[in-house]
Amino acid sequence: MLRPASGLLISAWICLLAASAAGAAHADSTPPGASRVATLKTENVVLIVPDGLRWQEVFTGAEKALLNDQEGGSWLDQPTLLKNFWRDDMAERRRVLFPFLWGTVARQGQIFGNKTLGSSARVTNGMAFSYPGYNEILTGAPDPRINSNEFGPNPNLNVFEWLNGLPDLHGRVAVFGTWGAFNDIFNQPRSGLMIQAGPHPPKLGKLTPRDALLNELYQTTTLVDADDPYNAFVQVAMLDYVKARRPRVLFVGYGETDNWAHSGRYDLVLTAAQGVDRFVEQLWNTMQAMPAYRGKTTFIITTDHGRGSGPVDWKEHGVEQPGSEDIWIAVIGPDTPALGERSHAQPVTQSQIAATVAAFLGKDFRKAKPDAGAPLPDVIEPQAHATHPVGP
Ligand SMILES: [Zn+2]
Repeated sequence: MLRPASGLLISAWICLLAASAAGAAHADSTPPGASRVATLKTENVVLIVPDGLRWQEVFTGAEKALLNDQEGGSWLDQPTLLKNFWRDDMAERRRVLFPFLWGTVARQGQIFGNKTLGSSARVTNGMAFSYPGYNEILTGAPDPRINSNEFGPNPNLNVFEWLNGLPDLHGRVAVFGTWGAFNDIFNQPRSGLMIQAGPHPPKLGKLTPRDALLNELYQTTTLVDADDPYNAFVQVAMLDYVKARRPRVLFVGYGETDNWAHSGRYDLVLTAAQGVDRFVEQLWNTMQAMPAYRGKTTFIITTDHGRGSGPVDWKEHGVEQPGSEDIWIAVIGPDTPALGERSHAQPVTQSQIAATVAAFLGKDFRKAKPDAGAPLPDVIEPQAHATHPVGP
């Protein structure tokens, strides 16, 4: 990374931010008479959050002790569970669950949070459940007042709301999630954000037969949590919106991984985790096939909290389940160096995600919300190029 020439580009400050975040000093090798400027390729950012998906599954794959009826509550017989989810080699095993995350995201981007390799990613809210976690992700700071999933409208400014208020992004910010609480977490009445979340049917106005079918499924499917429709439903609505409206800042929240864990169904946790990986790949491929997104879109993928471990605590999370504060954060995009699975890395926190979303778009969220965490280290490296003065 190169030190930017002052006052040349609005994105230049990012270099300074990222450089100071990394604690690095860089020599300027700019030849005499030329200037160095740094520009970001990212024009669109997608933040994707599968709820309560443990770092253990992400980095080590399925846990053998839970691949059964007794501890894992699985309805599949054990030979089928082992065939579907178990491989003796850890790298193969995690790739069975997350082929896109490990085959593409971790190869072309980065992933933080493998504690066994000395990379820590944690929540700082001290509660390790959903609303406090999403608040920390989206507003950049924990808030001890938010101590319940039924807290109601979020009093804190979130980065999506802030970006939507900027002239160049206004109306180009959207939120899709399964969980109805996102309407409160993003404070829809105040933020005015386009939000599709919860069980209400997503399609309005003149409906195609496909739209009508999606609405019908929203209205008629028996849900494990009445306020949290299945991931597959919101995926359809979200992809339609992306193709039609081309949002530049997009949130996608998938709920099933948490719901199936609370239900004690490890087989369905793993199936849902595989499904999320496919959905993320589908969104990535959809976007890369569109000129508005190709080569200029960054994905940030993380989770709102971890969970406990052992034969019982994997189902739950919070202060009573040690380890629930451990999460993971993955980033892929044209401005992110391919450092892969991070090891011996500077610890990172959930509170750094909000400013990172903004920083990829050349914006400084901490100007609006000074208590937000700094952008993640090492994930933003603008391409530097020399410019020669026009003269004399
Ligand atoms: Zn939960």
